[in-house]
Amino acid sequence: MKIEFYGLSKQFDQDRTVLKPMDFSDDIHTLAIIGPSGGGKSTLLRIIGGLILPSSGRLYVDGIEVQPDEKVLQQHRKKLGFVFQQSGLFRHLSALDNIVLPLVEVHGYSKIKAEQRAMELLTRFGLTSDIDKKPSALSGGQQQRVAIARAVAAKPKLLLLDEPTSALDPEYTTEVLDIIKELKEEGMNFIIVTHEMGFARHACDKVAFLCEGMLMEYGRSETIFTMPETGQLQRFLSKLLEWNV
Ligand code: ADP
Ligand code: MG
Repeated sequence: MKIEFYGLSKQFDQDRTVLKPMDFSDDIHTLAIIGPSGGGKSTLLRIIGGLILPSSGRLYVDGIEVQPDEKVLQQHRKKLGFVFQQSGLFRHLSALDNIVLPLVEVHGYSKIKAEQRAMELLTRFGLTSDIDKKPSALSGGQQQRVAIARAVAAKPKLLLLDEPTSALDPEYTTEVLDIIKELKEEGMNFIIVTHEMGFARHACDKVAFLCEGMLMEYGRSETIFTMPETGQLQRFLSKLLEWNV
């Protein structure tokens, strides 16, 4: 999936530039966005997803410009799946209904088709015995698996994940990352913001390093991790590796 942007920037307040003008053009299959907190990773992901507008610049996905027009943005968002740090599941609905509801309301599935699709995904993600449970009865890892099932249910062209495992206990992190890896093997395109460097390095084809609102490095993941060019990336990686076994 081709992602392009030119002169893309974001300012929330007059004097606080969160993203400095940046250019990018590549065919994305699986991309990890890494970098220190506050560097602008979530902001960039939200702009790509059409959830917020850039202050300047143009964004193209699959050659189509994502124009700052509510109708265009809605169409754009419909083609994507979103997963955030907190699962964002509807608290009053069962796991099954959390997946069924958007399929029916947003994507125009019939109730029967939506339930079939939801069951198929819950089974595949190892949640067969949890279909009737509300989010509060599920572990953090199970909730994120339901959230991922919901995000991919309508077969999005691109899945956007913003730190999907950072609110989880370590034992649940693996089960969620495994599912994302499985989706990759099935051909799902995704962009993931993550602090899981092993996942960025080994499960993602490309890595973008965002720091101080700048896209400082971009390339094949193995190259980014073995031959960091900027002092910022070198420092970022060595800090992360400090306590590794
Ligand atoms: P990251 O995801 O890399 O931690 P973010 O994109 O969340 O970084 O944030 C980058 C900067 O933008 C932070 O300093 C944050 O406080 C600021 N920021 C993010 N969202 C908003 C907002 N809605 N209004 C004002 N400032 C924001
Ligand atoms: Mg963030």
